[in-house]
Amino acid sequence: MTSTDYDVIVVGGAFSGAASALLLRRWLPEARVLVLESSAEFGFKVGEATVEISSYFLHRVLGLHDLLAREHLPKHGLRYWFSAEGGSDLSAMSEIGPSEVPRVPAYQLDRSRLDQSLLELAAAEGSEVRRPAKVTEVELGWPRSTVTIDCGGVTESLTTRWVIDASGRHAFLSRRLRTRRRLEEHPTAAVWSRWRGVRDLDGPAVIGADPTQPKLPPLAPARRLATNHFCGRGWWVWMIPLRGGETSIGLVYDKRLFEFPSGATPLEGFEPFIRSQSGLRELVDGAELVPDDLHAYKHLPYTSDRYMGKGWALVGDAASFLDPFYSPGLDHAALSIYTAMSVIRDELSGQQSEADLEREVVHHNELFQRSIKRWFSAIYLDKYELFGDAELTGASFLLDTSLYYMGVVTPIHQDIENLKIPVFGEEILPTKIAYSIMRFYSRRLVKLARRRQARGDYGRRNEGLRALVRTAGIGPTESMAMFRAGLALWLKAELSNLLPARRVRTPVRAS
Ligand SMILES: Cc1cc2nc3c(=O)[nH]c(=O)nc-3n(C[C@H](O)[C@H](O)[C@H](O)COP(=O)(O)OP(=O)(O)OC[C@H]3O[C@@H](n4cnc5c(N)ncnc54)[C@H](O)[C@@H]3O)c2cc1C
Repeated sequence: MTSTDYDVIVVGGAFSGAASALLLRRWLPEARVLVLESSAEFGFKVGEATVEISSYFLHRVLGLHDLLAREHLPKHGLRYWFSAEGGSDLSAMSEIGPSEVPRVPAYQLDRSRLDQSLLELAAAEGSEVRRPAKVTEVELGWPRSTVTIDCGGVTESLTTRWVIDASGRHAFLSRRLRTRRRLEEHPTAAVWSRWRGVRDLDGPAVIGADPTQPKLPPLAPARRLATNHFCGRGWWVWMIPLRGGETSIGLVYDKRLFEFPSGATPLEGFEPFIRSQSGLRELVDGAELVPDDLHAYKHLPYTSDRYMGKGWALVGDAASFLDPFYSPGLDHAALSIYTAMSVIRDELSGQQSEADLEREVVHHNELFQRSIKRWFSAIYLDKYELFGDAELTGASFLLDTSLYYMGVVTPIHQDIENLKIPVFGEEILPTKIAYSIMRFYSRRLVKLARRRQARGDYGRRNEGLRALVRTAGIGPTESMAMFRAGLALWLKAELSNLLPARRVRTPVRAS
C-alpha cells in the first residue's frame, strides 16, 4: 500500500516543482517527496530562453549539461533591432547585441521536453510522482498539512510536513492565502505562438547568396540562436529558435502605450502585426503559425506578499512573475527553489530549532519582498517607454546586462551559496548602492524618452546604429567593455538632450 504521509508534497511537476523535488532528494535521499502534476502531458509553453542564473542552476546545480547539449539549443545572447517609423529592411535597421559567442553558457529550451526530463529524473531519483493528479484543497497546519487531490475523479487525502507550491500562474496557495497581488503599475500583456518556416537570420535568404557581400556584417555568433528582439514604443517582439526548426514568436506590450488592434481577437491581431513589422516581415515571409498554438495573457505581473510560512513555500511563478523582458522567469524560479529547499533541508534534517526555523522564514520573506520590489523598480518600471528608441534601449540593455554580470552572475559563479540571495535581496551597502545606481539611470533614461517624445526626436537614430559589443563575462572587470558601451550611449543621449531640439527624422526607405 502506498503511504499517504510525506515529508514534502509538491504541487505542480513542471520546471519549479520537478527541480525542487530533485534538489531536495539529492540533499536528503531519505526524504519522502511526492510530486503532483495535474496535466497528463506538458503542452507548448513559454519560458524557453534561459539567462545566466537559470543556466547555471540547470548545468551546475542540477548537473544537466549533457542533456541540455543533446536536447536543446545553445543560446547566443540577446539581440535588439530597431527601425525608423514607416519601416525598413533588416540590413538598414539598427542592431545592438554581442559580437562574440557568449562566454557563459545559456540555452534556448524546448520547455515541455525539459519539464518532462526533469520530472522523469525526479522520479528516477526517488521522488514519487502522480500524474494526472490535481490538488484541489490544502489545509495548512504545523507540523502537518492536509492535501486533497483529484485523481481521475477519485478524491484522496494526504498529509505532509511541507507543502511546496510550484503551480505556476495558478498560484494555488497565494490565492487561497490572499497574498497574491497584481502589479497594476505595470500593465503589460502578451500574445505568442510557434511558427514554422521562419527564415534563418544567418542563411542565404537573409544574408544573400554571395558570402563575399553579406547583407548583414559577419559575426562569430549565430544571430538565429540569439533571443532576437524587435522593438517599438510600448512593445517588443521576441523571436526564439526551437530545436526542430520551429520558432517561438511573442509580442509583449504595455497597455498604456500600445493598443492591440481594437476589436481583434489575439489571433486576428497578432499575425498581421508580426507580418507588418520591419525585419519581422522579412523573416516570416513564407512562414506559418503552428495551428491551434496561439496563447495570450491579458495581464502579466503579480507577486505574493509572502513566499514562505512554517510548513509551506512558494517557488517559481507560483510566487511572482514580473516581466518576460530579459527572460528572468527561470532565474527567479532557480533562486526561489534553491533558497526554499535549503531552509526545508535544514528543517527536515533536524539542524534547526523551532526558533531558528521561525527566524529563517521571516528572513526568507524579507529577502524576496525586498528583491521583487527593487528588481521591479530598478529594471521594469516604465521601461516600455524606451523601446521605440534604439539609443535609449541600447544604453539600458548594455548597462543592465553588464551590472547583472558583475553583481549577480559573478558572485554566484564564485560561490554557489550566493544562489540563496535573490537579486537586490540583501540589506547591505554594496547591494543598496548597486540598486540605487540602476534605479537612477533607469529613471533618467525614461525621463530622456519622455523628453525626446516631447521634442520630436524620439527614435531619431533607429537606423544605422550598429552596436556590436564584447560579451560580458565572469569576474569583476570582465563586463567593463559592455558597461562602457552602455555608459557611452547614455551620455550621448544626455548630451543630445542638452542641445536644442532637432526634429530629425531618419530617411525612411521604401519597402
Ligand atoms: C509571455 C511570457 C514569456 C516568457 N518567456 C520566458 C523566457 O524566455 N525565459 C524565462 O526564463 N521565463 C520566461 N517566462 C516565464 C516562465 O514561463 C515561467 O517563469 C516558468 O514557466 C515558471 O515555471 P514553473 O514551473 O514555476 O510554472 P509552470 O511552468 O507554469 O508549471 C506549473 C505546473 O503546475 C501544474 N499545476 C497547476 N495547478 C496545479 C494543481 N492544482 N495541482 C497539480 N498541478 C498543478 C501545471 O499543470 C504546471 O505543469 C515567460 C513568461 C511569459 C508569460
